[in-house]
Amino acid sequence: MGRKYNFSAGPAMVPQAVLERAKAEMLDWRNSGMSVMEMSHRGKEFMSISAQAEADLREIMGIPADYKVLFLQGGASSQFSMVPMNLLQQAGESVDYLNTGAWSKKAIAEAQRYADVNVVATSEQSNFSTIPDFDQWNLNPDARYFHYTPNETIGGVEFHWMPEVGDVPVVADMSSTILSRPLDVEKFGIIYAGSQKNMGPAGLTLVVVREDLIKQSIAGTPVMFDYATHAKNGSMYNTPPTYAWYLAGLVFQWIKEKGGLDAMAQINQRKAQKLYTAIDSSDFYASPVEVASRSWMNVPFTLANPERDGDFLTKAAEQGLLSLKGHRSVGGMRASIYNAMPEEGVDALIAFMQQFEKEQA
Ligand code: PMP
Repeated sequence: MGRKYNFSAGPAMVPQAVLERAKAEMLDWRNSGMSVMEMSHRGKEFMSISAQAEADLREIMGIPADYKVLFLQGGASSQFSMVPMNLLQQAGESVDYLNTGAWSKKAIAEAQRYADVNVVATSEQSNFSTIPDFDQWNLNPDARYFHYTPNETIGGVEFHWMPEVGDVPVVADMSSTILSRPLDVEKFGIIYAGSQKNMGPAGLTLVVVREDLIKQSIAGTPVMFDYATHAKNGSMYNTPPTYAWYLAGLVFQWIKEKGGLDAMAQINQRKAQKLYTAIDSSDFYASPVEVASRSWMNVPFTLANPERDGDFLTKAAEQGLLSLKGHRSVGGMRASIYNAMPEEGVDALIAFMQQFEKEQA
């Protein structure tokens, strides 16, 4: 059976070229006589794989020398705890969080266990279909850090601009937007992301952190939750997720070959625009998200007649278009179109949507 177009929010598609390379190297990585998943993480083979992955990531993201790149486990969800545990000097200090959706909310709830959380603004009243007006944000210039979610995977709301919050370090959960477009790393204190959308398989968590922010963590922080532990040990204090790290490295090489993040951004913008145009030019489909904040990565949409949702999903699957069911908090459909979703996949989805609409007439 051939490969289908998988619109899952994550784990999501991995570039086919990467899967083929992994397949070719599966049993015997470059005459080592071993699969990468069988190698000691401290052996010279894996040390070369991990170093190459970091060098390639630093190159494509333009990560300055005074930032550490950590390859961790625990998912972005662990970062919801690690960020406050490491950036507060003591429990109860004040931090700023922006609430733009389900993932912001989870980050806020976890931070509240350690910090005095000031929610600078929320878009909950619009069911998270907007980004709160920057003029209305109640920023605290003395906050330890400012946290936000540049792309909300469930609501499909994305920042196409950078919040300017003065000298307060910016912490960004980039799980569903990392590597989709260029960014200025220097504007961030910490960038973190789970791997299962734009970096490869699940199991790896990337943290890019400015060195001066790795200080004393709050009392009682477990050694595995302390950035200093991982920074000091090159992310090898314990056994890292070696195979996911290797596959992420192949994805970084694939991005380089495609022309880097500028090229990714062009393709991603084109894919998203096509899909939003198809939605907007129809009376049968609708986007719940305000135009200026629509995500390039996660595109929720609804049908004029929600009773047709089940039929839409069944027929889409018959055409090889998978995992289009929307999140229950938004309803309808959601097409996640990360870097690895080929443009032909988006074209096939649009053609199917137009056909399905015609059949309703
Ligand atoms: N943040 C965002 C924006 C996400 O999309 C997700 C996962 N969908 C998470 C955090 C949680 O990530 P993980 O499952 O890797 O802990």
